[in-house]
Amino acid sequence: MSAQNVLDLIKEKNIEFVDFRFVDLAGRAHHITLPATEVDEDTFVNGVAFDGSSITGFRGIEQSDMVMMPDTESVYVDPFTAHATLIVMSNIYTPDGDRYDRDPRSIAHKAEEFLQQSGVGTTAFFAPESEFFIFDDVRYESTMNSSSFFVDSEEAAWNTNRKEEGGNLAFKVGVKGGYVPVAPVDSQQDIRSEMVRLMQESGLRVERHHHEVATAGQAEINFRFDTLTKTADNLMKYKYIVHNVARQYGKVATFMPKPLFGDNGSGMHVHTSIFNEGEPLFYEKGAYANLSELALNYIGGILYHAPALIAITNPSTNSFKRLVPGYEAPVNLVFSAGNRSAAVRIPVAAVTPKGCRIEFRTPDSTANPYLAFAAMLMAGLDGIKRKIDPRALGYGPFDKNIYELSDEEKAEIRSVPGNLDEALDALEADFEFLTEGGVFTKEFIDNYVDVKRAEAKAVAIRIHPHEYGLYFDC
Ligand code: GLN
Ligand code: MG
Ligand code: MG
Ligand code: MG
Repeated sequence: MSAQNVLDLIKEKNIEFVDFRFVDLAGRAHHITLPATEVDEDTFVNGVAFDGSSITGFRGIEQSDMVMMPDTESVYVDPFTAHATLIVMSNIYTPDGDRYDRDPRSIAHKAEEFLQQSGVGTTAFFAPESEFFIFDDVRYESTMNSSSFFVDSEEAAWNTNRKEEGGNLAFKVGVKGGYVPVAPVDSQQDIRSEMVRLMQESGLRVERHHHEVATAGQAEINFRFDTLTKTADNLMKYKYIVHNVARQYGKVATFMPKPLFGDNGSGMHVHTSIFNEGEPLFYEKGAYANLSELALNYIGGILYHAPALIAITNPSTNSFKRLVPGYEAPVNLVFSAGNRSAAVRIPVAAVTPKGCRIEFRTPDSTANPYLAFAAMLMAGLDGIKRKIDPRALGYGPFDKNIYELSDEEKAEIRSVPGNLDEALDALEADFEFLTEGGVFTKEFIDNYVDVKRAEAKAVAIRIHPHEYGLYFDC
């Protein structure tokens, strides 16, 4: 779409406002809104100015002027505003006219260019399965003003029952009992369907939605794969719609990886495949899980770099409370066809050559999708370049339930980092695969590590409610 097409659309749809959005380091969207009467050809040439110093992880106060340049491919009509508003995702530029190297979209674009220059293929496709919870309120206030936030799964189930009108205590979702029962156990079909309707209206191609395994309203909606930056844009749209439909229903949706102790957390499994001029490169009929050598090397790169990669795909202190045994979240750095306890799974049911793909199950939705998909692609491409064979390095294939292995068998298997600091240590020790071709800069990674270390420290120095149980009566 050209700038003129966007201006035509503004007229045609009687758009009153244009909402310019960009994404920060943590993957949150920010916006500045212009009356449509102020938007003309020049807006697409000169952009829209904003103050980068007020955005966490961006520039210091001494270099604050930044410019949003609209990406005309990304426009859609905001389904929530009372006044017709067109949303346009933007790239960030410095006042000198260079792309800002801390802009997550800039890194995503560079990763796509790097793939093309690598000679491996022309296109990488991504499809995230971003799970979330819909809660009545989650005592959100307590996270804001004290260190006493602690909700466990039984408490949450009890809380939901207590709130229900009419005292209905039957047809409840128990702990880990939420996988696809019909209503009245599933009380959130309408809210998910409304999310899907608005996603479709906003241009997402939604494939399905369902209640997820955990108690008390865990949900998943799947939309169709697309190229790297487009999929990250789609995920931003997805989260915006999920959050705001929940709000319209008087509820709150959260993508926090582990909001409930003792029940499944929310992951963001990411499916990836690479094509060359329309030809799938991951498929080889008759091989293990019909995977080509190139796909195996890609998996090798993901698993070899996983400890560092996870600092970007699982970038919160809470991420590591999900990555524990027993909740369908991967702990082991192995690959397998079908086995859901492996970090990399190869879906084998109903898969065609074009649909042949790998599923990296570790990520969660606290990841910035632009950075996470770019980092995954860089890890996989490094595996291809160095012909990393995951079989030779002890990464599988592993088709048993890994949670049930003996101690000796388990000792052979590498695990995900235990907490955010460990993942950041790994990233500091292994970052060159990301800086290949200048996709991520060293300066970006250093800044990223600083921001994340500060988060880990802020959590670590606070008093945890569980400490009262352990130590109060000493
Ligand atoms: N919620 C699980 C996770 O944390 C996944 C469950 C599933 O999709 N089968 O990854
Ligand atoms: Mg799924
Ligand atoms: Mg799921
Ligand atoms: Mg999955």
